[in-house]
This record gives sequence, structure tokens and C-alpha cells, in this order.
Amino acid sequence: MDMHIPTLLAAVLLVGAVLSLSVSAVAHRQQRDGMVFWAVGLGMHTVSYVFLFQVEALGEWAAFMAAVVLRSCAWAAFSEGLSQFYRRRVPRLLIWGPVAIAPVAFALLFEQLAPRIISISLIFVAQSLLALWLMWQARRTTPGRGQYFLMTGLVTALVFLVLRSIGAFMGTEADMLPMNGEGAVQAVGLVAALVVLLLLSIGFVLMSKDRADSLNRMLATQDSLTGLANRRHLNETLDLEWARASRTGQSLALIMIDIDHFKAYNDHYGHQAGDDCLQRVARTLELSTRRAGDLVARYGGEEFLLVLPHMNDAGGRWLGESIRQAVDMLNVPHAGAPSGRLTVSVGVATTHEAVHPDTASLLRAADDALYRAKRGGRNQVQVA
Ligand code: GH3
Ligand code: MG
Ligand code: MG
Repeated sequence: MDMHIPTLLAAVLLVGAVLSLSVSAVAHRQQRDGMVFWAVGLGMHTVSYVFLFQVEALGEWAAFMAAVVLRSCAWAAFSEGLSQFYRRRVPRLLIWGPVAIAPVAFALLFEQLAPRIISISLIFVAQSLLALWLMWQARRTTPGRGQYFLMTGLVTALVFLVLRSIGAFMGTEADMLPMNGEGAVQAVGLVAALVVLLLLSIGFVLMSKDRADSLNRMLATQDSLTGLANRRHLNETLDLEWARASRTGQSLALIMIDIDHFKAYNDHYGHQAGDDCLQRVARTLELSTRRAGDLVARYGGEEFLLVLPHMNDAGGRWLGESIRQAVDMLNVPHAGAPSGRLTVSVGVATTHEAVHPDTASLLRAADDALYRAKRGGRNQVQVA
């Protein structure tokens, strides 16, 4: 298959320019998500191709030197972008060291073509490995699939660079010079450049969007003070578990927890101490419920609700009691309470014994049980 090199080059330049301009249009400086670095890196990578094919006008030394510097700066910009995206400090020397070494290596080895191509390619390999390593380390904590586009782009570039070094090592270095070629080597190089540019841009933009989505999802479902599920998430989960329990005939338990004399706690210790206390109780609840599928939610100010699939009355009473004890054992001083400690009252309701027509009825039953625990003297568990 014959490929027209000038046309391919024009395609690389056009696609690269459009991509780097699009990425910079998406970039928001204030978000500090690495996008600006990414746009700059794509731009420099693209412009390096202009110089590669300007040997006649500029001479081999100047044209290739410019391309080498631009290309290694582009790699450094990609790693800077990733380190900003992951909010991870990477030693500057690791990122920018190769940018200093590449032109020196080029100048020293200018007359020896094969060693020159091999050493410059290996410097770029090291740079792309740094970017890949940053991504690999963060892959589990990075939401979404965009990161795999990006990794594929980096691996493609890496493979191409390694093949290039091997080619030069085997003695085909002369074919690799842009001015020598209508050849297959140039065509493959330009097609690889297109693929890499596309994957790098799409991957990074997707990665950024994946993270924004996951943050939005979190904000929409989490209570900001305690990190527990918020009311909206609770309602969704309750409806879902209710439907599942009705379908399968399994029991579903609700445990409602209310801190005793919490108004007095706020009045005595201040609102900030009250907030800290809510967070401690929230942690205690999370530690008490470890089964997958259990949901711990903040129901209102100092009220919490647990949704517990596959739990019957006995299990609910046992868990309610263990929560009451766990809070008691935190031993948080509470001058405004008769016991002198922070305690909770607990109401349990399940679909096990009683028949409930809907979730509202089950919630009311848990609330009634809680009310009885309050009237019965607080710091106790009542089952509907
Ligand atoms: P009881 O034992 O009957 O439950 O009495 P209580 O004082 O706990 O109940 P009440 O409903 O009268 O008061 C709840 C208090 O919870 C009132 C409010 O100041 C406090 N509260 C609600 N939300 C927050 C919050 O986000 N932070 C803080 N610090 N306090 C809160
Ligand atoms: Mg209350
Ligand atoms: Mg209360």
C-alpha cells in the first residue's frame, strides 16, 4: 500500500492542531486538573513534526534539534499534566532531566546516525515510561475508563519508540530520516503519531470528565458533614430494597437512631463540638454495619437510619443493642444528660413480623419504636 507522505504529514499537523486547540478550550485554569499542560504538550508534539520535515530549509542539525527539544518538552508537559491531575508531587528532575539530556545527546551524536536515533528514542522511552508509571500507580483510585485510552496511547508511543531503536540497531537507520523517505517507515511513523495524538487527547479529556462525574455523584448522594448517605440516597436505596424484599420474601430491617439530649450538648459545648460528635457517631455506625448491602444514612439533624436487607427482628434488636453499647462506650462526656455521657436511643422495625403496605409505614414503625425508647428513659432499644 502506497501512502503519500506529505498528505499524511498534513493530516498529523491538522489533527494535532485541532486536538491541542480543543483541549485548551476545555481547560479551565482554576481547576488545576493538568489540562493546560496537556494542551501545551499536544501542541509541542504536533509542531515537532513541522520541524522534522523542514530539513531542506533549516538544515539537518537545526531542524532535528528543534524537533528533539519540542518532543522531549511535550513528554515533560504530559507528565506535569498527570502529576497535577493526580495532585501528586513528582521530582522535577525526573520530569525535566531528560529535556536537558536529549539536546546534549543529539549534539554529541549528531554525526553517528544509529547511536543518535537509539539514544534519543530511549530518552523518549524513559519519558513515556514515567507518564505510564504515574498512571499505573493511580489506576485504582482513578474513576472511569478514560484512563485506559490514555494508557493505550502511551503504550502505542512506547512500542513505536522501542521498534525504532531496534530498527536503528539492526542497521535500517538511514530509512528513518524524514528527507529520505517516501518509504514505509515514514508512513508508519506518521500513522502512529495520529493514533497517539488521538488517544492522548481523548483519553485525558475523558479522564477529567470521569472524575468530575464521580465527584458530582458523590456530592449528590453523600451528607457533607458525616460522609454518610444523604436523604436522597437513602430514599432510593430504601425503595430498591423494599422492592427486592417484597419480591423475594426476605425480611428488611430499619434501625432509627437519635442522639439523646443533643440540643443540650450543642448548648453546652458549642455547635462545632456538636458537629464533631455527629461525625464520631457516624463512624461508630459505619463500623457496626459491615455487611455488603447495608446502608447507613443521615436521616436528619442528629438522627440516623440504617437500611438492612435480610435482617429479621432478632438480628435488628441485636444490632441496635450493639450500636447503643458502642456509642455508650465512646464515653463522650455530656454534662447536659442525666447519665453524664453521650447516648443514643434506637428504634427497630422489620418486615419480618408485621405486614407493612409501603416504606412509609415501615419508617413510621421504626419512628414509633424510637419514640417509645425516648419515653422509656432513652439510651435503650425498642423493637416495633
Ligand atoms: P432527645 O433526647 O429527645 O432526642 O432531645 P434532643 O435535644 O436530642 O432533640 P431535639 O430534636 O430537641 O434537638 C436536636 C438538636 O440537634 C437540635 C439541633 O441543635 C441539633 N442539630 C441538628 N443538626 C445539627 C448539626 O448538623 N450540627 C449540630 N452541631 N447540631 C445539630
Ligand atoms: Mg431528633
Ligand atoms: Mg435527639
